[in-house]
Amino acid sequence: MNRNIRALPKIELHCHLDGSLRIDTILDILKSDNKIDATDIEEIRSMDKREALEKIKSKVVVPIDTNSLVQYLDSFELPVEIMQTEEVLERVAFELLEDAAKENVKYIEVRYAPLLHTRRGLGVKEIISSVLAGMKRAEEEYGIKGNLILGCMRNMSEDDAIKVIEQGKEFIGRGVVAVDLCGPEEEGFCKNYLNAMSLARSLGYHVTIHAGEAASGQNVLDAINLLGATRIGHGVRTKDCKEAYDLVKSKGISLEMCPTSNIQTKAVSSLENHPFCEYLSEGIRVSLNTDNRTVSDIDLSHEIKIMDLDSYETYEKIYKYSVESSFADEDTKSWLLKILKS
Ligand SMILES: [Zn+2]
Repeated sequence: MNRNIRALPKIELHCHLDGSLRIDTILDILKSDNKIDATDIEEIRSMDKREALEKIKSKVVVPIDTNSLVQYLDSFELPVEIMQTEEVLERVAFELLEDAAKENVKYIEVRYAPLLHTRRGLGVKEIISSVLAGMKRAEEEYGIKGNLILGCMRNMSEDDAIKVIEQGKEFIGRGVVAVDLCGPEEEGFCKNYLNAMSLARSLGYHVTIHAGEAASGQNVLDAINLLGATRIGHGVRTKDCKEAYDLVKSKGISLEMCPTSNIQTKAVSSLENHPFCEYLSEGIRVSLNTDNRTVSDIDLSHEIKIMDLDSYETYEKIYKYSVESSFADEDTKSWLLKILKS
C-alpha cells in the first residue's frame, strides 16, 4: 500500500492501558511517588535519566523472541504497581489517547482490569472514573474519541468478575461499553464465567473475550456460544476449530488481531504464518490493533505497516470492519465512516 501510514485515519479496538504507559511517565512516577514498592526501585531512582529509562525498558518491554504468554504478562507488573492512584490513572489514560491521536487514531477502545488497581485502597468506581476523566480530557484536547472496556481477570474468581460488572454498570453510556475476560488462557475457561457474563449482557454491556490466543479454537466457540461474545480478542486459532470458524464467519463475529503481540506470545510462529490476511480474504471481520503499545514497543502505524497490505482498498475494508464492530454509538460510527471518505 503506497500511502503515508501515519497520516491514515485509524481505529483501534484492542489496547490495554497498563501495557501502553510511556517509559518516561513510569520513571517520573517512580521518582515522585515514594509509596511504590518494586524490585530495583532504589537503583532506578539513583541512576541518571538515560540509564534509568533503559532499566525500565528492560522490565516493561518484551523482546520479539519472548518465551510465552506468561513471560509477556510479567511485563505488566511494574506498570500496574504504579497505577494505584487516581492521579496516575487519569494521567496515563490521557497520555494513551494523546499518543494515539498523534498517529491519527480517531477512535480507540481502551481496556484494563480495575481490580488490579485496588492495592492502595482505591474503589472500583474511583478506578473507573479516573480513567474516564483522563480519556475525556484527551477527547476535548485532540478530537479523538474513546470508550472503555472493563477487564475481568481469568486468574480471579467469577465473584470478582461480578464485582467489576456490578460496580461498573453506572458508567455504561458514560464511557464504559463492554466487559472482557483477560489474562492467562486455559482450555475451557468459559464455563467458569457463565453467570458473570450473563449478568453483564443483561445490564447492557457488550462482551468481547480474549480467546484462541494461547489455547484452542474451541475457546472461541465457547466464548461466542456460552458467554455471548460478539467480538474475540485475537482468535488466531479460530481456524483450528471448524465449528468456531464457521460460526465466526456466519455471525459476523469480529476478531481483534494484534500481529506483533501474537508473535511474541507464540500464538503464531511468525508474521508469515499469521492468519490475518487469510481471514480477511475469507470475509471474516478482522481488525488491526496493538494490544500493548509499550510492552511490544509499537504503535498502530507499525502494525499496519508490517502487514504490508496490497492496496488502500484493503485498508478501507479493515477500517470499515473496525467501525462496524466497534462498541461506539451510531453517531460516532457515522462520523468515523465520514472521515474515511473525506
Ligand atoms: Zn489483549
